[in-house]
Amino acid sequence: MRILREMGERRVERYALCFRWRAPERTGAILSFPCTANGTVLEGELLRPERARLNRCLDHSLDVRFAGIRDESYTIWTAAVGQCEGCAQLVELRLARNHCRCGLSYTAAGVRLDPPSVIPMGRPLVVAAPAPVPVGARAA
Ligand SMILES: [Zn+2]
Repeated sequence: MRILREMGERRVERYALCFRWRAPERTGAILSFPCTANGTVLEGELLRPERARLNRCLDHSLDVRFAGIRDESYTIWTAAVGQCEGCAQLVELRLARNHCRCGLSYTAAGVRLDPPSVIPMGRPLVVAAPAPVPVGARAA
């Protein structure tokens, strides 16, 4: 298998503009809105109700105070991708055994596996039951 993309990590940068309620009974609650690292709100990610709520935070019609910009960035793992030797389809190599649509399998490193030669443990062997014979049919 030819590896087209190696396994890796990707950093996703996310920030939130945060406002905290002033009322003592709501001090744990935070209103947050997606923004850039410098606090520019990502308007395209806001639904209409969220945009209205943000405006109410900014014009002080809600009893909140600005609570800063929260870093919500995270790292995601990306699986390697290889090209199947049998059919040239792309196969994501996420698991110990990764299957292509054509039936071939590969390890997470892209090494082709032979088809299993034994029935896996714990998997029942399915045998077709004989078709029922209608009563009276034996006489014929
Ligand atoms: Zn294939």
